[in-house]
Amino acid sequence: MNQADEKTTVVVVGGGVAGLALGVFLQRSGIPCVVLEKHRREYVEQRQRAGSLDGRGVRMLREWGVGEAVEEHGGGPSDVVLPLMVDGERRAWRMDADEDGAGAFIPQQVLVRNLIRIFLRDGGDLRFGAEDVALEGLDTEQPRVRYRDGAISCEFVAGADGFQGVSRSAIPDGFLTCHSYEFGYAWLSAMTDVPADPAAVMAVHSRGFAAQITRGPNASRVYLQCPVDDTVGDWPDERVWDELAERFGMPVARGPIATKQVVPLRGVVFSPMRYGRLCLLGDAAHLISPMSAEGMSLALHDAEVLAKGIVAQVEKDDPGPLEGYSDTCLAHVWERQAAAVWMTDAMHDSGDASYRGEFRKQVARANLENLVQPESA
Ligand SMILES: Cc1cc2nc3c(=O)[nH]c(=O)nc-3n(C[C@H](O)[C@H](O)[C@H](O)COP(=O)(O)OP(=O)(O)OC[C@H]3O[C@@H](n4cnc5c(N)ncnc54)[C@H](O)[C@@H]3O)c2cc1C
Repeated sequence: MNQADEKTTVVVVGGGVAGLALGVFLQRSGIPCVVLEKHRREYVEQRQRAGSLDGRGVRMLREWGVGEAVEEHGGGPSDVVLPLMVDGERRAWRMDADEDGAGAFIPQQVLVRNLIRIFLRDGGDLRFGAEDVALEGLDTEQPRVRYRDGAISCEFVAGADGFQGVSRSAIPDGFLTCHSYEFGYAWLSAMTDVPADPAAVMAVHSRGFAAQITRGPNASRVYLQCPVDDTVGDWPDERVWDELAERFGMPVARGPIATKQVVPLRGVVFSPMRYGRLCLLGDAAHLISPMSAEGMSLALHDAEVLAKGIVAQVEKDDPGPLEGYSDTCLAHVWERQAAAVWMTDAMHDSGDASYRGEFRKQVARANLENLVQPESA
């Protein structure tokens, strides 16, 4: 430790869903922490990404006394009956009761904005514009986090800086194993200024999977399955709306498209999720097929397990939960990856057979039939 260093218990690198949730949970447990976020507040509060939280995530936030983070938003509960268009025919999802209760449609930037407001309101130390973060001494009892404006020594570092962050790359080569799987197709993902009504419509069609999911009262994200080597240039706005209407089998409301990107579908898991005093969480440790819409929920799960582990260590001198952090999270991550692969296959293979062939299409159709029912039911 350098004499000039600040001191705290936990430095959280990254102020996304994972880092902010961890910050709030630690704050509520009385554990000193500093959250370092590379970008400006205005930027992270407007960054559009995911939009669904599972029932467990909603319940978890309520249990930590921050239910307001999901209750103040422009979306709605995700337990309403939503249509699935199969070859242009309207069907309905079979809704099994979720033991955790209803999930929520909440645009990610709204959840982030709410968590920032709660953390700062309750006296949290969140530093925006923290550039050039570097992690040192992770295999010692007092790691150190340097950034452009200073250095902080601490007991634990939480790497919550997303898939492209610096935390994971601070781990020595060869320590982590990367397990990854490519589905072999991509989504053209378009952020539009057109509301989704109802909140989520999906379609299985021989032209490929399609979806339109709410991102607030006046915005939705459109997803269209496409080859991985497609580029945004292949998808002018007119083609996006035409293709959506074709795959839905009905006319769709059209409007401005703010951004477009081609996202290859894949799953990635880094193992273990801990190195010395550094724990990885959220996208820094794993990516899940967006078909499952579980990226935010997994990030929250990691944050809760880590918060409880740190509290047990610091307050009760009990290292057990923190030592089990990686195993506990990975068990959950693999369980959710399995569900995500199953769901992604069912929704894609059952439509456009050009990727996986007719045999897989029929298998996927059989699986799909277990998920849906006639709309009249
Ligand atoms: C375009 C896009 C669309 C998505 N759509 C969906 C979806 O529809 N459904 C779904 O479930 N999931 C979706 N996801 C995934 C979901 O958004 C993530 O799983 C979720 O954001 C994970 O949260 P996180 O906090 O781990 O990471 P992030 O949200 O990436 O947060 C990481 C934070 O760390 C900061 N940071 C990065 N590097 C540094 C650094 N060096 N120093 C300090 N801070 C740093 C970043 O600015 C960011 O604020 C999408 C992701 C993307 C990128």
